Amino acid sequence: QAKEQGRNAYHYYSAELTASSFERLFMETHLRQALGKNELVLHYQPQVMLNGGAIVGAEALIRWQHPELGSISPGKFIPIAEESGLIIPIGEWVLRTACRQAKAWRDAGLPLHSISVNIAGPQFERAEFVDTVRQALAETGLEPEALELEITETFISRRIDHALAVLEELRSLGVKLAIDDFGTGYSSMMYLKRLPIDKLKIDRSFVNDLPHDENDTAIAKAIIALGKSLGFTVIAEGIETLEQQEFLRLEGCDQGQGFLHSRPVPTPQFEALLVNGIPAFAPKP
Ligand code: C2E
Ligand code: MG
Ligand code: MG
Ligand code: MG
Repeated sequence: QAKEQGRNAYHYYSAELTASSFERLFMETHLRQALGKNELVLHYQPQVMLNGGAIVGAEALIRWQHPELGSISPGKFIPIAEESGLIIPIGEWVLRTACRQAKAWRDAGLPLHSISVNIAGPQFERAEFVDTVRQALAETGLEPEALELEITETFISRRIDHALAVLEELRSLGVKLAIDDFGTGYSSMMYLKRLPIDKLKIDRSFVNDLPHDENDTAIAKAIIALGKSLGFTVIAEGIETLEQQEFLRLEGCDQGQGFLHSRPVPTPQFEALLVNGIPAFAPKP
């Protein structure tokens, strides 16, 4: 592209392009091997009732621990996985691993209503996607009602009729559906009312400055009211302070997920949370 704009443009862009495409290629090469080398793991972050603090769910969040590169955040490698197609095998691994873990917790009698799994656009857009979900459930024995898929607005709105059909199919499997990062994408009220979803996740960017920022206060209130009146469960992500939690609770937000309750943690630590409860909600001595 830059080349077509003439020699100067090419020279102007080339240094930057080379650096970033090298980094990408380098990462893609390593990412290709990461699954086989067991460098990918899932951490879990609790989703809690704002009234009372019971843990109702866990969001599975992928982590990549490379022996030389160190830990690489999903914000960095998920886009590369999406562009290279590696998100397909990685996403299937995440789905199966999360389902297997949730099944084990539930079989052990630990109270967990649902496990939430992030689904990337390219996964959701494949014709085989619904089958992949059906297989993961059959293979692990997890009840469909205990699986929640998190999808963002962007690719729902891109092909709304296709998305609606896929969501309906997933719904008929019994799986739960959530819209992630709500408010950051392109949301049309027209399709929101038609979507067969269960949950809206208020994006962290609207929670950050609660309850001091007037605009965020207005937006958070509006999303809660909208979600509740459409019959959805509303959860806020990125709750870090008691003040934010109280504001959201009083506005009628059902659930919360954030560092106030716990960071995403490895399996053993999450088990401890399920057994002992969330320290932030512990009764004051
Ligand atoms: P997300 O799905 O919106 O996940 C929530 C992100 O917010 C997580 O970042 C979590 O650690 C972070 N977070 C939660 N509470 C707080 C808080 O109180 N304060 C702050 N500052 N951050 C908080 P993480 O784990 O780095 O993941 C980033 C994004 O990467 C996720 O955003 C999701 O879009 C993507 N991702 C993670 N795991 C997967 C996966 O298995 N598959 C796919 N496709 N995407 C994934
Ligand atoms: Mg998510
Ligand atoms: Mg989110
Ligand atoms: Mg987010």
